[in-house]
Amino acid sequence: MFINGEWITGRPQFQVTNPATGEVIGEVPDCSDQDIEAAISAAHNSFREWRATTAYHRSQLLYRAWELMIRRKRELAELMTREQGKPLKASLNEVQYGADFLLWFAEEGKRMYGQSIPSSRENQRFLVQKSPVGVVGAITPWNYPISMITRKLAPALAAGCTVVLKPAESTPLCAQAMLEIFEEAGFPPGVINALTVQNPARVGQVFCTDPRVRKLTFTGSTPVGRELNGLAAANMKRVSMELGGHAPAIVFPDADPVHAAKGLSLVKYLNTGQACISPNRIFVHEDHLEPFIAELTSRTRRLVAGNGMNEGTGIGPLINELALQKVDSQVKNAVARGARIETGGQRLTDGELGAGFFYAPTVLSGVTPAMDIYREETFGPVAPVITYRSEDDVIAMANDTDYGLAAYIYSNNLSTAMRAFEALDFGIIGINDINPTSAAAPFGGMKNSGLGREGAQEGIDEYLETKLGGFAI
Ligand code: ADP
Repeated sequence: MFINGEWITGRPQFQVTNPATGEVIGEVPDCSDQDIEAAISAAHNSFREWRATTAYHRSQLLYRAWELMIRRKRELAELMTREQGKPLKASLNEVQYGADFLLWFAEEGKRMYGQSIPSSRENQRFLVQKSPVGVVGAITPWNYPISMITRKLAPALAAGCTVVLKPAESTPLCAQAMLEIFEEAGFPPGVINALTVQNPARVGQVFCTDPRVRKLTFTGSTPVGRELNGLAAANMKRVSMELGGHAPAIVFPDADPVHAAKGLSLVKYLNTGQACISPNRIFVHEDHLEPFIAELTSRTRRLVAGNGMNEGTGIGPLINELALQKVDSQVKNAVARGARIETGGQRLTDGELGAGFFYAPTVLSGVTPAMDIYREETFGPVAPVITYRSEDDVIAMANDTDYGLAAYIYSNNLSTAMRAFEALDFGIIGINDINPTSAAAPFGGMKNSGLGREGAQEGIDEYLETKLGGFAI
């Protein structure tokens, strides 16, 4: 925990474990109500001075933090693999992605332009300025334990906001490493504070009710986001919500099914399927079914599950037992309702794998709307394949979800691709592209997937108020 420029110790601690081995890798303090109060006070008290600094000064500090992240890339990635489980190569990619937000917002912060608006009255001028919203409460998840911190903190800090961060209880060590970087980069005491806590509900409640916190930014599950958004709304707070997803992937008749299977296997098993933009419903045209399933299944079988620190590991563990049980029950439910397991379909317990939360990468064919997996977000390494016949049907099926985060399409026909891009109700659409994310591109969802956008030019607006000056002259 880091409050007002001090590292806090001498509290009850809770343990952090490696999901690949079950080994305890660290302990962090469990915050008290007084700590929550102290962190918000520190952020509140430092806001006046921090907002008065120039965008150029804030940019420099963010730039320094970026340099430190790049310098410590390997160290951060190794910590991430031990704490969260993803293969080292994926951790290295995430550290880079996380650092990208610091650099992007170091630049964007200098472009918080206002406006001068002509008035219909001769003796009046209008001037619009952007000002920081104030203290930000940031709640981040465990699946991307570093990049979700920088995606929120970089724009908030660039805008002139101060922050209280509450990282996920499974991955506080990555947050601690990032706080060390911010401290070393020279951010003044109180500007960035972090609370570690085993039971997050109390911090969430205070973020939503304390009048000094002006904005809540949350990435996590839809049920928790919905609850926090309700409470924040009652207290008229600004919110950004990055919630769950249930991404469709459509393989059109004019796509190359083998190429599509390759792409979708890569994005499906990334982070062991624990990503809100993971393709969760793969719609394949009946003419392509056979070659698609053959390629997807053979690629899935070749993935090596294991400790992410080992060379050659292609897929890591799930985060905990509960996550594993949920995946297993979705697979069992699908099979009971007629789905076919092409490969996988069970927990992995051989040798060292038994100590962790490993589930075999799984391909299911013959998935139908009657199965839980068709409707519920799947946060695991399961690729459910659904067969379709007509373009109109598949668009309707893809949109038939409460979520609206990511979607993927494969087509070699520009018209088909453009029609699908326009008809799909999702915030992020990959067109023959399995990585439609970047610090420079807006990330966010429609419907129950959330509110607001992160990254891009829009990302900083989430932390700014519009202030109008009407000048009588
Ligand atoms: P997941 O299912 O991905 O773990 P959660 O929504 O439970 O998603 O967790 C995402 C983040 O939200 C984590 O930082 C977690 O500690 C936090 N969180 C979970 N429940 C609450 C709550 N009731 N109030 C505030 N934060 C919460």
